[in-house]
Amino acid sequence: EGFDFSGFGTSSFSSVFENIFGTTAQRTYQRAERGEDLRYTMKVGFMDAIHGLKTRIKLTRMVACPTCSGAGYMQKGGQQACPVCGGSGRSTIQRGSMRFSGTCPSCGGTGRTPGQECSMCHGHGLIQKIELISVRIPGGVNTGSKVRIPAKGNAGRMGGPSGDLFITIESAPHPFFKREGSNIYVKIPITVPEATLGAKIEVPTLSGNTTIKVPPGTKSGQKFRIRAKGAPLAGKKARGDQFVEVSIVPPPFNDERTRELMRELEKISPQNPRKKMAIH
Ligand SMILES: [Zn+2]
Ligand SMILES: [Zn+2]
Repeated sequence: EGFDFSGFGTSSFSSVFENIFGTTAQRTYQRAERGEDLRYTMKVGFMDAIHGLKTRIKLTRMVACPTCSGAGYMQKGGQQACPVCGGSGRSTIQRGSMRFSGTCPSCGGTGRTPGQECSMCHGHGLIQKIELISVRIPGGVNTGSKVRIPAKGNAGRMGGPSGDLFITIESAPHPFFKREGSNIYVKIPITVPEATLGAKIEVPTLSGNTTIKVPPGTKSGQKFRIRAKGAPLAGKKARGDQFVEVSIVPPPFNDERTRELMRELEKISPQNPRKKMAIH
């Protein structure tokens, strides 16, 4: 009676063998292995990050070697019976009262040596290739967002699945829109008459201009919310809001008629906006 470790998979049996023999087996790619993921940073425009884009990227990735079809060895010629298992593909070892049996770790159960090393990939089974691939970046991404492109990482070894490609987004700034998550912030200058009398003013949004109502007596720094005019939430239909912060600009000070009106304004409605600060 013995322990059959084959049920635990080849790797656990191999490590038992390695421990018993006190050696580490030479790395051979007998088993299918998933390819590595690849990471890539993409700089996109402010509006492209919001609306999404389709683009092509040039990518260096490992693909299956066309000469040996990814095996790493030429199958025809040079193949011999595995010297470890004598061609059976199974190995058994006695250790005290324990007897281990399982797939031969040297040939991976094939019973044959791999054959002549492929001269194209030098036994790796993979070669480096520059590929031009199409990618679709969804709307609503922002700096730091990761977009996963399935199976565009490195190819797997021995027919294993390919890894994925992860694109990290870096969004460019905008001359007047600021973005925090899905909310958009914009500063809008308004005139003294607009602030005093109230006005309808046109403001830019991500989807064209819109009009907001500024009430009479509006102060600098006052914020107005325009609902659902922000950036889309990635992968969702909902949008954030836009916040408009107004700042009052002075009238033209080098115009004599305007200066006269200002002096008159001071006379007819004297004002001390710093009264609460106890300064006179
Ligand atoms: Zn063998
Ligand atoms: Zn090859």
